Amino acid sequence: MSQRLHTGRLVLTPKDPGYLPNDLAAILEKLQSIGLINGEVPGEASRYLLGDRFMQLVTFLGCSPSIQLEPGEADESYCYLAIAGPYQSPHLLYGKNSTPPRCESCRKRITDWRTVIKIWRDSTPNCLTTCPHCGHQQNPISYDWRQSAGSGRLFLLIENIFPQEAIPAPALLDQLCKATGNQPWHYFYQQEEYQTPPSIEAESENMNA
Ligand SMILES: [Zn+2]
Repeated sequence: MSQRLHTGRLVLTPKDPGYLPNDLAAILEKLQSIGLINGEVPGEASRYLLGDRFMQLVTFLGCSPSIQLEPGEADESYCYLAIAGPYQSPHLLYGKNSTPPRCESCRKRITDWRTVIKIWRDSTPNCLTTCPHCGHQQNPISYDWRQSAGSGRLFLLIENIFPQEAIPAPALLDQLCKATGNQPWHYFYQQEEYQTPPSIEAESENMNA
């Protein structure tokens, strides 16, 4: 297989990164009933085909895209929904597309965030990072990344969407909110840094070890 950059994914998750939706089945049922998904991809666990209302519930920007909604011959470039989580503690998803987050206190950008995040990940759970500008201490899961990264305990991943290529319609976020006890949801994009990144599950096990 040739080296190929990760196209990207549209990620949906509750706004509160600490909130864990307690009923994944209810969320999937809701997504099925509104036509976002249409059953599992045959032979692929936790992967769902997109449904006949996908193009209404997710708005593609720019000129008419050629979106492939079903698996072709041995390629992974079609759009589908995958689930990441649930995780015992909030997980930070970021990638090549991530831009420096802002400190919640002084609002300055943390330009060296990759180093900050690496130290944070290698540290004890729940440790805080220190803002290089004002010294404010903050848990990076609450950083404001705009739509370039995000944290949560359960993620819906719509795969093979370029950053900013498509946005969820308000109706979709509204339905997710209703399916999770009125918890507001938001979205962001993630473009993996490597072609074959460590799986989210593997990271999760490390974190919980
Ligand atoms: Zn600061």
